[in-house]
Amino acid sequence: MNNNWLRKTLKDFAPYAVAPIHEKTVINANESYFNILSLPSVMKDAEEALASLKPQIYPAPMADTLREAIADYLSVDPSWILAGNGGDEVITYIINTFLDPEDILLTHAPTFDMYDTEAAVIGAKTISVPDLPGFKRDWDGIAKAVEKYQPKLTVLCDPNNPTGELAPLSEIERIVSLSKNPVLVDEAYMEFAQAESAISLIKKYPNVMVIRTLSKAFGLAGMRCGYMVADSDMIDAVSKVKSPYNLNIFTQAFGAIALKHRDEIFKVRDGIIAERDRFLAELSSVNGIRVYPSSTNFFLMDAGTYAPALFEALRKADILVKKYKSPEMASFFRITVTTKDVDERVLSVIREVIPNA
Ligand SMILES: *Cc1c(COP(=O)(O)O)cnc(C)c1O
Repeated sequence: MNNNWLRKTLKDFAPYAVAPIHEKTVINANESYFNILSLPSVMKDAEEALASLKPQIYPAPMADTLREAIADYLSVDPSWILAGNGGDEVITYIINTFLDPEDILLTHAPTFDMYDTEAAVIGAKTISVPDLPGFKRDWDGIAKAVEKYQPKLTVLCDPNNPTGELAPLSEIERIVSLSKNPVLVDEAYMEFAQAESAISLIKKYPNVMVIRTLSKAFGLAGMRCGYMVADSDMIDAVSKVKSPYNLNIFTQAFGAIALKHRDEIFKVRDGIIAERDRFLAELSSVNGIRVYPSSTNFFLMDAGTYAPALFEALRKADILVKKYKSPEMASFFRITVTTKDVDERVLSVIREVIPNA
């Protein structure tokens, strides 16, 4: 294809490539190991919903039933909710709503790639404040950058992907209060942190937006359902760029069913949290690697000079973990927590590869 056909911002773009997966145990994308359709109560409601779907009719533009289910879950007004095809779609909407070309998006690094990628499509610039040693966010640095640039959009990922770090809500509030413009807090993993959400800031600070998803703690990554929570004026603004019927009838129906059965689904989540804490405690005494504390369903591991050999050995054991291309992160893996069985297999591969581990 003629490269001149592309919009200018896309000319040097590397396509988002998901490599084909051959491994049986996939712990590289923070997916759940648990299929919620195996819960009889969920399956029963899903079958009933399926029987009454009307695929010949366009879906509800604002996904009213799902919106009410989300509002009930979070104890907020439904007018504060906008649902999308995963948190990813909502992030795209937010960037399309608030950023012009040349505008600044401020975030911290390392973090989720989507913010920078979507900003780059628009021609906006991302400025990232690097974490302090040990992947602690540099809150003073972020605060200074907000005051210096007054970015059109600030994005804080909390708990952060890929570091797993949870921020004190007081630091989020400091950034929000210093910013004259919108601040997006991406809480895709908040259900694993069980800490107070930035949603509690919205009443006082109408510039706050929070993203959540059913992909992680609800185990519905394949369904594509995420949402934003913000003051209704912000929801109305973001709705301007939303495609009219963005969310299909299956996602609207099954998303509401998952939320209805959240108590059962959260038992699985609680098991993952317990396994995360158990596994991290075990790994912290293993020589040759370093693991970082996590408030999510994954953790970051530094395997130092053993990283290439360990990645290949895991692969041979049919286990795929996430590794990074950037030179600073070359010795790191991000590992999704699923079950004790899987974790024990990971540990035995570590012990094979690292002498005295
Ligand atoms: C997974 C994830 C999302 C959203 O994922 P969707 O599957 O699109 O809902 C958003 N932010 C972060 C940091 C994530 O890891």
